[in-house]
Amino acid sequence: MASGFYNVPNIENEPVKEYLPGSQELKDLMSTYQSMNLDFVDIPMLINGEEVRTGKTVAINPPHDFKRTVGQYHEAEEKHVIQAISSCLEAKALWAKTPWEHRAAIFLKAAELLAGPYRAKMNATTMIGQSKNVHQAEIDSACEMIDFFRFNAQFMVEIYKNQPKSSKGVWNRMEYRPLEGFTYAVTPFNFTAIAANLPTSMVMMGNVCVWKPSNSQIYSANVIIELLKEAGLPDGVINVVYGDPVMISNTILANPNFSGLHFTGSTEVFRALWEQVGKNIGNYKSYPRIVGETGGKDFIWAHPSADSKQVATAISRGAFEYQGQKCSAASRAYIPKSLWSDIKDYIISDIKSMKLGRPFITGHFINAVIHEDSFDKISQYIAYAKKDKEAQIIVGGKCDKTKGYFIEPTVILTSNPKYKTMHTELFGPVITIYVYEDKDWKETLRLVDETSEYALTGAIFSKDRYVIDYVEDALRNAAGNFYINDKPTGAVVGQQPFGGSRSSGTNDKAGSIWNLLRWVSPRTIKETFVSPTDYRYPFLNNN
Ligand code: NAD
Repeated sequence: MASGFYNVPNIENEPVKEYLPGSQELKDLMSTYQSMNLDFVDIPMLINGEEVRTGKTVAINPPHDFKRTVGQYHEAEEKHVIQAISSCLEAKALWAKTPWEHRAAIFLKAAELLAGPYRAKMNATTMIGQSKNVHQAEIDSACEMIDFFRFNAQFMVEIYKNQPKSSKGVWNRMEYRPLEGFTYAVTPFNFTAIAANLPTSMVMMGNVCVWKPSNSQIYSANVIIELLKEAGLPDGVINVVYGDPVMISNTILANPNFSGLHFTGSTEVFRALWEQVGKNIGNYKSYPRIVGETGGKDFIWAHPSADSKQVATAISRGAFEYQGQKCSAASRAYIPKSLWSDIKDYIISDIKSMKLGRPFITGHFINAVIHEDSFDKISQYIAYAKKDKEAQIIVGGKCDKTKGYFIEPTVILTSNPKYKTMHTELFGPVITIYVYEDKDWKETLRLVDETSEYALTGAIFSKDRYVIDYVEDALRNAAGNFYINDKPTGAVVGQQPFGGSRSSGTNDKAGSIWNLLRWVSPRTIKETFVSPTDYRYPFLNNN
């Protein structure tokens, strides 16, 4: 029991390492990369702290070099999922009573381990398994994950500090209990940090969790598990299962003790999970919390007063970094006619200078897309645009899957502002641009707002303050993360809490107290020091 009001150590965002040619950090990272790339890792599930191997294995092949096998993971059967749930429920009693400073200490220690000895391994597995270049791995699997661990500890304390008023003779307290039962984290392939944050943010607040990572992220998920074990996370608090997402989710969502879903991934899958929770609602012991961050069709809109080079750079970075596989990636842009010629030249020149290939060559800005299904989907849209009268590919467009799933950064110019790639999430290195008449800038805002079902991120460019004010208001509901004169990607924990609304999610802002609040069920405690002993109130003495 705590005998003091402790402060969490001062929290700062983890500095991003630069990995300059010849630097020690680059040498360390690339030697880890090389040895892991040649090695073979057999990845078990984790249930009650035990490694579980089922013998039903799936090979792990890097997206940029899919003929190479760097490991395998073991798939769950239904009985393993049931064991994972039981393990959570057993661990719950002790974990929920563990004082917050000890829970926080585990994640603060994990942050220090990741900032130091685990950094190269976490980044290398993210580069190999998810095809990220050095910088993309560093900002995700090192810095963002460290930030989540540290800031969530701080946010937990900020929540706990919120206490009600007390009146004379009475002490009111608010206790922030974890949810009853167990929670379920379902995570996407594209950010190692999100994969770590979804289960650990719930666990930080005293919950226990079954975690199902994406089948395309298991290689780095295995390092997250190693890290959390070394940081001292007790057995059974997080149980990890791999394999058929439908069987795993069906088993979990049918359990009466299920109390919360923390999801990040596509809109379609989230809707299916929510529907299933709805169907089972009468079977649960409590109403489950549902948090989901889902798809996007993120925009860049430029006003005639904007700086062409700044807009072009935002497109080159915002649309193509990590092959456009960020939920926040710019995938549609609205450019005024007067700026188009300059912006077009800048973008074409940028893209022609972008090198594409394996992450091991650090000069490669673009690597592979995540898997064959994704490659096929994106290349079909590109093939369609090549033939369509309403579209013209002005740069890029080549797709090659002989060795890896490589797609050139591609810019589609369309004459139809409602063209299918202006509203469908492709999740690849493709942006579609609509050029508007300068005088129509206000009407174009309506297109930005209404063309897609999503509302995740968006960026506007202008030098005119009145215009900025007008657009900020006009696009109030078009994006949960809104950028002025900046690209729409790169949210930092503690600085730009992240999430969108409409079909983009429940907007519970990962990396903020608003997210952590979803994982507690407050209990109000009123204590009266001297209890009344007579039911009669003074007004009854009137007669
Ligand atoms: P996905 O929906 O294919 O997979 C996400 C998770 O759901 C994975 O763990 C997967 O195994 C699981 N899953 C897949 N089918 C399932 C089913 N039928 N039942 C239960 N679980 C199932 O998404 P992805 O390809 O991993 O990630 C890309 C998507 O995630 C994009 O739509 C992107 O916009 C979105 N995303 C959103 C955010 C955000 O913060 N809004 C962040 C990252 C990614």
